[in-house]
Amino acid sequence: MTIEKAKKILKHQFGYDSFRMNQEAAIDCVLSKKDAVVLMPTGGGKSLCYQVPALMSEGLTMVVSPLIALMKDQVDALVSNGIEAAFLNSTQTGKQQTEVFQRIRSGKLKLLYVAPERLFKSGDQFIDFLKELNVSLFAIDEAHCISSWGHDFRPEYRKLALLKEYFPEVPVIALTATADKLVRKDIVDYLELNQPELLISSFNRPNIFYSVEPKRNSYEKLLRFLEKRREDSGILYCLSRRSTENLAQDLRDEGFNALPYHAGLDRATRQRNQELFLNDDAKIIVATIAFGMGIDKSNVRFVVHMDLPKNVESYYQETGRAGRDGLESDALLFFSWGDVTKLKGFVEIENNKEQSDIMLKKLDQMGEFGDLKTCRRKYLLRYFDEDLADDCGQCDNCKAEYEKFDGTVIAQKALSAVYRTGQRFGVSYLIDLLRGSKSKKMRLEHLNLKTHGVGADISKNDWFDYFKDLIAQGFLAKTEGQYPTVILTGKSEDVLYGNTKVELYKITEKAEKSSSLVSDVSHPYVEALLDDLKSLRTEFAREEGVPPYVVFSDATLVELATYLPHDRNGLLKISGIGDVKMERYGADFIRVIRDYCELNGLESRMKLKFASRKRRRKRNTKGDDTYSKTLQLFKQGMSVRAIAEERGLTRNTIENHLLRFIPSGEVQVEDLVDTDKIETIRDAIDELNAAKGLSPIKEFLGAEYSYGEIRAVAAKFS
Ligand code: ADP
Ligand code: ZN
Repeated sequence: MTIEKAKKILKHQFGYDSFRMNQEAAIDCVLSKKDAVVLMPTGGGKSLCYQVPALMSEGLTMVVSPLIALMKDQVDALVSNGIEAAFLNSTQTGKQQTEVFQRIRSGKLKLLYVAPERLFKSGDQFIDFLKELNVSLFAIDEAHCISSWGHDFRPEYRKLALLKEYFPEVPVIALTATADKLVRKDIVDYLELNQPELLISSFNRPNIFYSVEPKRNSYEKLLRFLEKRREDSGILYCLSRRSTENLAQDLRDEGFNALPYHAGLDRATRQRNQELFLNDDAKIIVATIAFGMGIDKSNVRFVVHMDLPKNVESYYQETGRAGRDGLESDALLFFSWGDVTKLKGFVEIENNKEQSDIMLKKLDQMGEFGDLKTCRRKYLLRYFDEDLADDCGQCDNCKAEYEKFDGTVIAQKALSAVYRTGQRFGVSYLIDLLRGSKSKKMRLEHLNLKTHGVGADISKNDWFDYFKDLIAQGFLAKTEGQYPTVILTGKSEDVLYGNTKVELYKITEKAEKSSSLVSDVSHPYVEALLDDLKSLRTEFAREEGVPPYVVFSDATLVELATYLPHDRNGLLKISGIGDVKMERYGADFIRVIRDYCELNGLESRMKLKFASRKRRRKRNTKGDDTYSKTLQLFKQGMSVRAIAEERGLTRNTIENHLLRFIPSGEVQVEDLVDTDKIETIRDAIDELNAAKGLSPIKEFLGAEYSYGEIRAVAAKFS
């Protein structure tokens, strides 16, 4: 019965059809006044576990959160759904705070967000105030902050133990994305929870694609990565403040709209950069880990770690900021063992051997992950005590294809380099030697060795892989310590004398998953309409002073542009549109969709919505054959529109397919764009430099020119 009521609230207030994971159990638990500990990955949907009960109970739900920046965002999101919520923190003026107090007293407020230190400010004054009210629930967000075993200990959280003393009757729900057993125990102990229900969800984030690249030429690799994601929003994490600023500047020079963010920037700049990012006005934020704690932006499409995080918990939390909206997203890490060494000094905690050892072990496991040859998701989930039955198929290692070959000669060259230099050098030096480097680093006596230059035909990258492989197979070994050297093993001799064959592996294809919205063939959404919907969303967001995703998430807009609802009923079936948003924005969005459909001869596809669910999983990862299929039909003389109908795809998608064949001349640009438009577009491209992205060009040319046409001309002439 209560759950039926909860579902109604979910639908009408939040616009969602069903609960995820343990949301239902958590809600049920606190409504029956029992304590609960909820473990869910970032983006899993922890907030609803207390927001729904808050709306179903008399009185006030207190939300304790360490993240002042997040409070405003969460409250904005609630208010946009017509829910009475507010926060109290140090960023507010006295007047603002007084207003909040008035709202609390009036009894209308349902949710109040505060930092832990605020609760116990000026003795027990605030507590006494709360006692006079009807507090229905305490929600402790980021509850792992209470534990010194965790990665984010905050001493002020320890005071929360007092809550149970002051409010023994009020249930407490503790929520975190850190699943460590010791942390879990600390949460229960320090909060003095009363036989709490433990609700652990799977930590799997199936829509995130994990990959790791060696940290060599990382900047070039990054550029290639970003190039494919021009339209997408993402976070790049760096270790130092300086490197965030440098990288952001370099990327701006390349025409990317990237801004830095770190705790050393003055407050105004920090706030402005964060806001530009949240509002999609800057696509990329280059940040230290100071950024993100407060980020609820749901359409982050990629998270890149330029440097190694200190532990798997942090890595998982930071990568978890991608794809909260459930759409496909990327997590890329640039890895080197050098980073592990470099970080050792950072993770140690002065005068605390026990804590230091914990942190060093965590760092080592992070290194293990970076060097992993097997399924990354499996490793991550194992780390959080969860077993994945099969390899995921959605990480770089699962996608990589290896080719085995006879590497005996290569092995002999490598081993001989080690032997002749006296087993006193590291991998990089040995590779330079093998490749015949004449740099100053080379010792004079090594320039005349027979091995000097015998491996010049093999790239540095490949050599690194071969050394790693030879070490893994035990033909070589590495010494411990800060500057490890490569040494021979008991198995080396047989190789040097030619008595053993050595098999090596070469990655023949490191399949890259391009996950940007634009290339995702599983959503046959109407791209141009999506652009229009985004513009409308931005208008509303500006008017209301909130980030665009607070109005509607990207996932909601993609659904709109896919199913093309023409009326209120249809709109209410779209995920993320509840009653209040329907009233507030519905009519305008319907108008834009209807206008677009009328102009382009499209009909509503709401019928497909329920039929399509199952099909979606099966996606054509390569997409190659889908392109050639389109080309084939085109060569048979079919028009773009006809192909779109035949294939059940949008005209935009078909156009995008055909664009790929313009550089090779298989498709002529004149086939796709009116001849009199071509010149104008070309001039605009020359003028505005296409490398900076197409949106300035589109803006310049106006509504009569579509992205498809601009892309076609750009494909031909750049
Ligand atoms: P967490 O706090 O666990 O990181 P959030 O509570 O911020 O995650 O939720 C992440 C996103 O998922 C939000 O955009 C939220 O609106 C959405 N969400 C949560 N629960 C559901 C649900 N049952 N159905 C659809 N979307 C949901
Ligand atoms: Zn995998």
